[in-house]
Amino acid sequence: MTDWKATAAKYQDQYLADLKQLVAIDSSRDVENQTDEFPLGPGPAKALDQFLDFGKRDGFTTKNIDNVVGYIEYGTGDDYFAILGHADTVPAGNGWDTNPFELLIQNGQAIGRGTSDDKGPALAAYYGLRILKDLGIEPKLKIRLIIGTDEETNWTGMNRYFETEPAPTAGFSPDAEFPLINGEKGNVTFETHFTGDSAISEQQLLSFKAGLKENMVPRDAEAFVTMEDPDEVMKDFDAFIENAPVSGVASIIGKQIHFEVVGKAAHGMEPRNGINAGTYLAMFLKQLPLDQPGTNFIRFITNNLHDDSRARQLGLQFTDEVMGDLTMNVGLMDYDAETGGVVNTNFRYPKGITPAEIQAHLEKAATPYQATVTQTNNMEPHFVPADDQLVTDLMNVYKEQTGETNAQPEVVGGGTFARLMEHGVAFGALFPSATDTMHQANEFQPVADLMLAMSIYAQAIFTVTK
Ligand SMILES: [Zn+2]
Repeated sequence: MTDWKATAAKYQDQYLADLKQLVAIDSSRDVENQTDEFPLGPGPAKALDQFLDFGKRDGFTTKNIDNVVGYIEYGTGDDYFAILGHADTVPAGNGWDTNPFELLIQNGQAIGRGTSDDKGPALAAYYGLRILKDLGIEPKLKIRLIIGTDEETNWTGMNRYFETEPAPTAGFSPDAEFPLINGEKGNVTFETHFTGDSAISEQQLLSFKAGLKENMVPRDAEAFVTMEDPDEVMKDFDAFIENAPVSGVASIIGKQIHFEVVGKAAHGMEPRNGINAGTYLAMFLKQLPLDQPGTNFIRFITNNLHDDSRARQLGLQFTDEVMGDLTMNVGLMDYDAETGGVVNTNFRYPKGITPAEIQAHLEKAATPYQATVTQTNNMEPHFVPADDQLVTDLMNVYKEQTGETNAQPEVVGGGTFARLMEHGVAFGALFPSATDTMHQANEFQPVADLMLAMSIYAQAIFTVTK
């Protein structure tokens, strides 16, 4: 029996030396400096190359595909098990106490951009592979550690890989959290389009704006209206704000009233965690005697979308036993009296319901307001059953090494590389007890966690390929 933890511990110094080299490369997407040779800019390709160089140094076969993706291979045969990590990072950004590109080990933490997402975990998986090779363990199933360079944006590299290389029989991505993610909800966005009217009326919705991104709950909303009796409306607005969980101010500019409302932002995958400033502002505006196109826009929102993360008013309330609830985020609301408007709704949906069904319900709701609905993008739900051999094998390794015998696989609303494989899950490397600093200033991961991840990966790769 291999003592995986003791074996991994011998590699700590080398692992940290390699991680230092990876962190030193600014590998954020840099298309401003793109060339034919480096489609995503030189940084991501350089980090990929560094990864592949580790593989060559340690005696593995490697391949670089067009400087956007590459792999390190161990074993023989046509079929293979895949491990999908990435060498790109989000930009360093502001607010760092130290140099983000200089790996610092302080109080047991490895600090630097990419230590947690995903250079640290992907390199830990690489060392898992290296440990097997150094122990002379020949896998029955070939293994490929595949390194993407555009995970944080468009998945350019990993998509290229799956277009040009044969698909793996199974795999995991060390680019999320432990214990294991075996399901990712589908993600579909619809735009509901409203017409405007160039005719000017006495009392009118002139413009409305809320939200920054489809996958965020809008924190801010504003609108301009013209009203015959603005003073009365101002009083009503103050009373409305008094009784709503949002703050707001209104000001009179000539014949116009300008409303500003502030709610609470949250990630769109769980809109319950936020307060949508846009739908609250619409709830106030619906009391006003607005023009017909403005009324259509506002009433569609208030009658179908307000305070309804489970889309009950649309008749879309749906829960899958294992994947959970369908959720809806009203991420963008934009209206101009002349040109019309658009309301952008983002749905995270479990298996058992389709984008076509969601669209049909939205269309039924939109028709009375002379609005039309279009779908803008879609990612299908991804799910591997909890009793699948891959899931049970990886979970057993995790439980054995952590002692967390009650750990359960999870379903999330987000998307990882795992969904690229029919038989794919996300596995590590953020432990349940750890602080999530991915994409933040002062990104870190405890060295002990990275070493435990390495040990888990070594045993996991051994188990699923023996
Ligand atoms: Zn990542």
